[in-house]
Amino acid sequence: MAEADNDDLISLLEEEEKDIDLPNLLPLLAVRDVVVFPDMLLPLFVGRSISIRAVDEAVAKDGFILLVTQKKQHLKEGPQPDDLYTIGTIARILRILKLPDGRIKALIQGIAKAKIIKYVRKRSFYRVKSEVIFEKPVKNITIPIEALMRSVRKHSEKIIELKDEFSGDISSILESIESPGKLADLVASNLKLKIEESQSLLELVDPVKRLKKINKFLSRELELSSMQAKIQSDVRVEISKNQRDYFLREQVRAINKELGDSDDKSKEITEYKTKIKKAKMPSEAGKAAKKELKRLSLMHPDSAESSVIRTYLDWLVELPWSKSTKDNLDIKKAKEELNAAHHGLKKIKNRILENISVKKLNPQSKGQILCFAGPPGVGKTSLGQAISKAMGRKFIRISLGGIRDEAEIRGHRRTYIGALPGRILQGLKQCNTNNPVFMLDEIDKIGADFRGDPSSALLEALDPEQNSEFSDHYLNITFDLSKVMFILTANITDTIPSALFDRMEVINLTGYTEEEKQIIAEKFLIPRQITENGLTPKTLSISNGALLKIIQEYTMEAGLRNLEREIKKICRKIARKIAEGEKKLFQITQNNLHQYLGLHKYYPEMDKEESQVGLATGLAWTQVGGEVLYVESSLISGKGDLIITGQLGDVMQESARAAVSYTKANLQSLDIEKDFFENLDIHIHVPAGAIPKDGPSAGIVMAASLISSATGKPLNKDIAMTGEITLRGRVLPIGGLKEKALGALRAGINTIIIPEKNKKDIAELPANVKRKIKFISVKNMDEALSIVLEKEKNETKKTSNNK
Ligand code: ADP
Repeated sequence: MAEADNDDLISLLEEEEKDIDLPNLLPLLAVRDVVVFPDMLLPLFVGRSISIRAVDEAVAKDGFILLVTQKKQHLKEGPQPDDLYTIGTIARILRILKLPDGRIKALIQGIAKAKIIKYVRKRSFYRVKSEVIFEKPVKNITIPIEALMRSVRKHSEKIIELKDEFSGDISSILESIESPGKLADLVASNLKLKIEESQSLLELVDPVKRLKKINKFLSRELELSSMQAKIQSDVRVEISKNQRDYFLREQVRAINKELGDSDDKSKEITEYKTKIKKAKMPSEAGKAAKKELKRLSLMHPDSAESSVIRTYLDWLVELPWSKSTKDNLDIKKAKEELNAAHHGLKKIKNRILENISVKKLNPQSKGQILCFAGPPGVGKTSLGQAISKAMGRKFIRISLGGIRDEAEIRGHRRTYIGALPGRILQGLKQCNTNNPVFMLDEIDKIGADFRGDPSSALLEALDPEQNSEFSDHYLNITFDLSKVMFILTANITDTIPSALFDRMEVINLTGYTEEEKQIIAEKFLIPRQITENGLTPKTLSISNGALLKIIQEYTMEAGLRNLEREIKKICRKIARKIAEGEKKLFQITQNNLHQYLGLHKYYPEMDKEESQVGLATGLAWTQVGGEVLYVESSLISGKGDLIITGQLGDVMQESARAAVSYTKANLQSLDIEKDFFENLDIHIHVPAGAIPKDGPSAGIVMAASLISSATGKPLNKDIAMTGEITLRGRVLPIGGLKEKALGALRAGINTIIIPEKNKKDIAELPANVKRKIKFISVKNMDEALSIVLEKEKNETKKTSNNK
């Protein structure tokens, strides 16, 4: 059946309005999810065979059919009379369309309400007898009814508006309906009510009552709709907020990019993250690093603060928190290594091997802080290097000379501009392992002042009892130093801060004799310099005589530094000659040495003074080893004052006073007049005033000098003295005998007066020192004077101004 256009339909409906002659029996069509109201025009899809047959029957006649709603939506079989409401709507089928799936689409129009009176079963579908329910028309539209109608219209418009379902001029359609019943039906048919609710409206015959009920449903619906609308708008707000955030974030990214805050930064942050992971820090450090990284990520990359954080992070990630080398604890190999690098030094090598053995048996052993003490150039540094090589550890060396600030050891707090960790951590970062052999040079030259005491910070770093939690001010977190093997070096031990001195084991390295120097030069220094300068033994040889001459006339030292330097100088000169084309074996002898090294610098006898009144020869133990030291005294008219000059330390000044008191107390036995000193000032001077001198061992020298001045008897210049003096004239023992003896030999002195109690030390001296030097031991000053003071007064040699 072809579909008619809208105009045809409307004219058809208008026709029906007039007067309809309804048949007595009507086919029944049970509808499921809708309640059809009179005047309602709607398409129905008919699928159940029982319904299709009913439709066919209706269409075959005049198209009338009774539509009744099922009480339950889903019935398994065809509905029984009990399953259906009894009031329905008589409708007319305007059009039908058979669909390809067998269903029928029927356009129907409701005509009038009707009540089923009787079911007449006819074969496969129901026919019913029904009764049309007539509605009383409302003749008088009173104010309350009008108000009700307006309210219904208003509510309907609002709902439609809220639901945004219809377009077009809804309000004019609603306005055009004047009958309350029709208005109620129109609204009811369009409201999406529950089936029961719709049915109850249909069954309500009184139009005003129906309108009231509709109004109630409408207000409820309105509430629901506005609630729904609100929920929807909330959802919309939520969505738009997310969109807004996204948009803002994009903008921030764009701004950051403009500011240079771009991908580079996130790349940097990720790089730090991997570095932090790789560094395998302890948890405390890891936490600190992550905290700082977070701060960095929030900062502008060019800000001053972020560069401070970056430096800090670099330090954190580059410190060897868990990097260590594997120890080689093979004693035999270690011994070979030590012997290969150093001649002699048996005691020291044994001590080091003992250390390694303990480490082998008990890897957890804390060990001791070793301190190598001795003059420059005796092999302290190279021993440290040899130890590190023997143990397979890395070697790092820093100098502490002149440090007065605690921050040098422990770092500055980060609040300081340009703050850095202290030297200990700097050293560890440099060698990149946490168990190196760490040499701290010149421990005897650190001092303390208002900036704090570096030695106490140093103690924290070195002391095996507490250094597993060394805290550096810059890092502000602890670092475990317990695996580090610390070795300190010092020239003299007197000035090492006592707190440190108590905790370390001092290993003394003394100066070398000429013979030892010769051997070391031949075996180690010359071969090393030859290879370092690109030469071979076939191009250079240095004769024994030349070597001795270098030692005696070109150097004047306890160690080997200058000797090595002079050898290097020769090698350099020869390297140049070879580079310039000369090809031969260069032989260095005593006679041609000056061509390479220039004129000699020292003469064994050069520094020696003549025997004079008031001039005494002493021996001192200084930072550079043993040295000959001269004491002068002079008597000038005055009031008996004592003048001491020559940069003497407190202890040395005291021993000068003791010497004076001894002299004054023994005038008679010394053969000096009683009132001799009454109108005289005594001036004691120790030349080479720029070098600070200290210690008590020059006591007898000063006394001898003064007594010589007072008696006018000169002193033997070839005899050097050393010893502390008491007020009673006793001579007390001194330290550093070997250094002093070596110093005397270097200055060409062969007789030394020593305190009686030092006699035992002679046994420990190298054989050739014992052979070359005559040691005379004395118990008291008288004995010393009897040896050193010449018998005859010698007026011409007198340097003093006594009257
Ligand atoms: P220090 O640190 O005590 O001032 P160094 O370790 O710098 O002395 O030594 C100076 C030079 O002398 C180095 O080249 C070192 O190898 C060498 N040297 C010192 N003592 C010996 C020794 N016993 N055997 C071989 N070479 C030595």
